[in-house]
Amino acid sequence: METPKADVIVVGGGVMGLMTSYYLAQKGASVVVLEKGRIPCGSSYGNAGLIVPSHLQPLCSPANLKEGLRHLFNPVGPFSIALTGNGRRLLWLARFARHCTAEHVAKAVAVYRDLADRSTTLHDALAQEGGSSYDYARKGLLCVYATEKAFRQASEEAEALNRAGRPAQVLDADAVHRLEPALGPRCVGGILQEPDGSLNPSAFIDYLAKTVRDRGVFILEETEVFGAETSRGAIVSLWTSRGSLRGHQFVLAAGAWTGLMARRMGCPIPVEPAKGFSITYDAPTLPVFRPILLEEARVAVTPLGSSLRLAGVLDLCGFDDSVSLRRLRAMERDMKTYLPDSAHGAVREIWRGFRPCTPDGLPVIGRMRRPRNLLVAAGHATKGMFLGPVTGELTALLAEGRPLPDPLGTALDPNRFADRF
Ligand SMILES: Cc1cc2nc3c(=O)[nH]c(=O)nc-3n(C[C@H](O)[C@H](O)[C@H](O)COP(=O)(O)OP(=O)(O)OC[C@H]3O[C@@H](n4cnc5c(N)ncnc54)[C@H](O)[C@@H]3O)c2cc1C
Repeated sequence: METPKADVIVVGGGVMGLMTSYYLAQKGASVVVLEKGRIPCGSSYGNAGLIVPSHLQPLCSPANLKEGLRHLFNPVGPFSIALTGNGRRLLWLARFARHCTAEHVAKAVAVYRDLADRSTTLHDALAQEGGSSYDYARKGLLCVYATEKAFRQASEEAEALNRAGRPAQVLDADAVHRLEPALGPRCVGGILQEPDGSLNPSAFIDYLAKTVRDRGVFILEETEVFGAETSRGAIVSLWTSRGSLRGHQFVLAAGAWTGLMARRMGCPIPVEPAKGFSITYDAPTLPVFRPILLEEARVAVTPLGSSLRLAGVLDLCGFDDSVSLRRLRAMERDMKTYLPDSAHGAVREIWRGFRPCTPDGLPVIGRMRRPRNLLVAAGHATKGMFLGPVTGELTALLAEGRPLPDPLGTALDPNRFADRF
């Protein structure tokens, strides 16, 4: 296929690819997005849509490691790991375990604080234009607890959040019930994380795709990238299911497929898929007014206009896309525990998606040393919908030839794994 040589070719039409295109188009660049599916798709389609400036912890932490090991042989737990499979995943797991230290968490939290603050500002600005079309709202995230022990610990952590300038109200059972009458007596208390919110993910992606198209970005759907042709340490063209495409710079924003694609482009980046599920229902009998996190179950409940979505499970099982009825039923049981009187409506959609995860729990945003005209914007694990805007802004900055300011630049550098792959 003959197309004009674009300034930037972006691989992946999820939130990272589209947000990058948005800021590139704003700077006047000619941009082509290549997406193997039909937008909205990928992990950006059916997730919980939480906007979480109060959640700064990386996936790799001592607490998550402990929780992961506890659920290792639990077929319906919130986490699972397939220990079978290729050596690459085992190596990834070993690296992940090595990063589960308090020192690394402190470093990652500082990075996430910077990203979160900027992304919240950008989300608010984007929502001024189109927020009503994708149900953008910041009514807080209500984290609820079914055990006194977990609630007590969360109340202590809320103090730390308040000290860090992220207002968090500790609410007893009555106050929680007043805020969300659908929550039942099993709920012993909750924390209202005030700066947080939610959006409808697929509507947000639809909005972004339309907006960037209106600004001249060319989106080629059902176009799969197979690999890259390189010369003298730079990519010359991409091989796709529609033929070869030439460009000056390339952005790899292929979500959970980033590891696979990077290997095919000759620059290994350890991104592993982590499967999660969501079930979307027609509106329940008792309304839910704001997003709720069922903490012990690790299940998110998000009101999305006239529907309600349950989302959860983190399954490190490669690209095994099987859907486990037992896991889905466990999520529904969890919902019944916390929201017992709210009969949910008919199932609209059952979905699974793959979160893009790195072994140090931080995204990869930066320029590869080789191929030197390849930028990467991926690896946001559980926070990609939220961190899409700041990632797009930073990637557009990199495309202009400007480096990311430190310490962000070093912490997010996609070359950081190269010597130790
Ligand atoms: C159950 C669940 C709940 C979640 N909840 C939240 C939440 O509440 N808040 C939050 O912030 N995040 C959440 N996430 C995480 C969030 O969904 C991801 O971090 C984010 O969507 C990643 O965006 P992306 O653009 O990197 O990847 P994707 O959205 O997956 O986009 C990558 C795209 O690249 C395309 N692609 C891949 N390979 C190729 C190729 N070779 N050629 C062409 N195209 C290609 C794919 O088809 C895909 O569309 C959740 C995820 C899951 C699974």
